[in-house]
Amino acid sequence: MSRARIVAGNWKMNKTFLEALHLTNEITSSLDKTLKNTQVVIAPPFVYQHTIGSMLKEFKTWAHLGAQNCHQAEKGAYTGEISADMLTSVGTEYVILGHSERRQQANETAQLLAKKVDTVLSKGMKVIFCCGEPLDIRQAQTHNAYVAQQLNDSLFHLEAAAYENIIIAYEPIWAIGTGMTATPEQAQDMHANIRTLLAEKYGQALANKISILYGGSCNATNAKSLFSQPDIDGGLIGGAALVAQEFINIIKTCEQVVK
Ligand code: PEP
Repeated sequence: MSRARIVAGNWKMNKTFLEALHLTNEITSSLDKTLKNTQVVIAPPFVYQHTIGSMLKEFKTWAHLGAQNCHQAEKGAYTGEISADMLTSVGTEYVILGHSERRQQANETAQLLAKKVDTVLSKGMKVIFCCGEPLDIRQAQTHNAYVAQQLNDSLFHLEAAAYENIIIAYEPIWAIGTGMTATPEQAQDMHANIRTLLAEKYGQALANKISILYGGSCNATNAKSLFSQPDIDGGLIGGAALVAQEFINIIKTCEQVVK
C-alpha cells in the first residue's frame, strides 16, 4: 500500500529569525532534487511563516510550510490570535492541531479542536491532527480506547471526502521531548489501531490512504526502525527538527526505507 510519506518538523517556540533562515537554508539546499517519495513540512513560529514560506516556494514539489496552531474563528476581536485566512494568505499549507502541549498548556479541548479542524479544512489547508496518551493511561493499558476517544471527539464528525486533507500524528505524551521513544512495536500497534478505527468508521479503502505519522523523541538513530513499520508513514519531529543534519537524516531515512 503506497501512502504519502511525510516528515514534519515542529519547531515549537525555538529559533531566532536568523537561526530560522539558516536552518531552512540548510534543509532545502541539502535535500533539493533528492526526494521522490517524501514530503517535508516545516512548521516554524507564526512570525516567520511568510519569510520561510517564500524560501520554500522554490522547493514546492517536496517542501511545505506548516503552522503550529490556528484560531477557530474567521476573524475578529481575538487579541494575539492568528486566523486561517491569515495563514493561507502567507502560503501556509498545513496546520498542526491537537498537539499535547496545546491541549495541556492552552487548555484546548476536544470540542474546540473539532472546530479548529473544520476551520482549517474550510480554508483549504491540511490538518496534522495529533493524538496520544499520557503515561498513566499507557500503564493502565487503556491507550487504544483513549486515542479512539480523541479521534471520535475531534475528527469523526467529518465526511469521508475531508480526509484528503487529514494527516494523523500519533504522539504518546510520555515520549515527547523525553528521549523515551515508543518501541517500533508499540508505535505500530497504535498506528494499526488508528487505521482500524478509520476503517470501521469510513471503510478500509479510505483508511489505507491516510498517512499516520509517529512523534515522540524520533531521531536519526531510531527513525529507521519506526518508519519500517507497515503503518508508520513518517514522523512529526520536535527536538531533532531543530538540528539541520539530524532532521535531514530523518527525512533521508523516510525516503529510503523499504516496506
Ligand atoms: C512533538 O512535540 O511533536 C515531538 C514529537 O517532540 P520531540 O520529537 O522533541 O519528542
